[in-house]
Amino acid sequence: MTGRADRLVKVLGDEGLDALLVTNLVNVRYLTGFTGTNGLCVVGPELRAFVTDFRYVEQAERQVSGFERVRGGRDLLRDVCERLSEAGARKVGFEDHHLTVRSHGRLRDRLDDEIELVPAGELVERLREVKDDGELLAIRAAADLATEVLEELVDAGFRGRTEREVKGDLERAMRSRGAEPSFDTIVAGGANGALPHATAGDDRIEPGTLVVVDMGCLLDGYCSDCTRTFASGGLPDGEAGAVYELVLSAQEEASGAIRAGAGCRDVDAVARRRIEAAGYGERFGHGLGHGVGLEVHEGPRLTQSVEESEQLRERSVVTVEPGVYLPGELGVRIEDLVVVGADGPEVLTPFTKSLVTLDP
Ligand code: ZN
Ligand code: ZN
Repeated sequence: MTGRADRLVKVLGDEGLDALLVTNLVNVRYLTGFTGTNGLCVVGPELRAFVTDFRYVEQAERQVSGFERVRGGRDLLRDVCERLSEAGARKVGFEDHHLTVRSHGRLRDRLDDEIELVPAGELVERLREVKDDGELLAIRAAADLATEVLEELVDAGFRGRTEREVKGDLERAMRSRGAEPSFDTIVAGGANGALPHATAGDDRIEPGTLVVVDMGCLLDGYCSDCTRTFASGGLPDGEAGAVYELVLSAQEEASGAIRAGAGCRDVDAVARRRIEAAGYGERFGHGLGHGVGLEVHEGPRLTQSVEESEQLRERSVVTVEPGVYLPGELGVRIEDLVVVGADGPEVLTPFTKSLVTLDP
């Protein structure tokens, strides 16, 4: 963990900051290892302090190293102010996307007047986008579990179960392997598949429909994320087969464009162009992908709405998940989780992308 704080200190130097107050718990965990629900830390060149309340003192002793561990009172910010004054910090960054206006006010009241509070943006989140070896191992393990769970689904079939029943079995399979779902598992059959964030309902999965299954595991703090679209019984009539092949080719083409230095917008555009050319541009209404790590949705984002200068960095972990959604009919999404390499992607979700028919 200390290496991460060192990397942060480098960034603080570039930003002209003497210290950063980290209040986002996911970022606190990333820097200190602390997994409790109340804690914060400050990081500067000569300053590594972690503050929590009495409930977590023991836990912090086990988890937090490389930081001075401070047992805070009711108001953790008060203890932080003392540390900042002692360290002689003048320009102190804070996580303006996270710290509430109220907490900012309290902080301002308690800090020495000569300390300037500077909105610092997502500095730790940017660090988190590039994974270290331990993180890649953890994400690989979480992705392997997702693959196992999908294979189990193929063996079990849908067998006329409802979406909710299938979801329950998928999540039980994760838990029996010591993992939790990294997000609410999506099982969306037929027309429900046209809703990209459908929640599993009590509709029975009918033969002759497509079923979108989007799931991920949370293991040792790290997430995976994988989508496959299955046929129940057989393919529905009409466009389904062609749409599936289109999404698959867009997914593979975009995946092939992933490498360090590739523009985030450009990779998204690879899939988008392919889908637009087939006349379904309006039916692909979300970004191509997102980063995955301690959170299932984090940076970098592969979408047209990021800055044009945004590039993929080596050792980021991202999803590649184009989809086509035909309202009232069906949806197809295929999502892989990949590590960005210097020359291309390493795919962490090897489950086949050819259309698999369950209960044939
Ligand atoms: Zn997903
Ligand atoms: Zn995703």
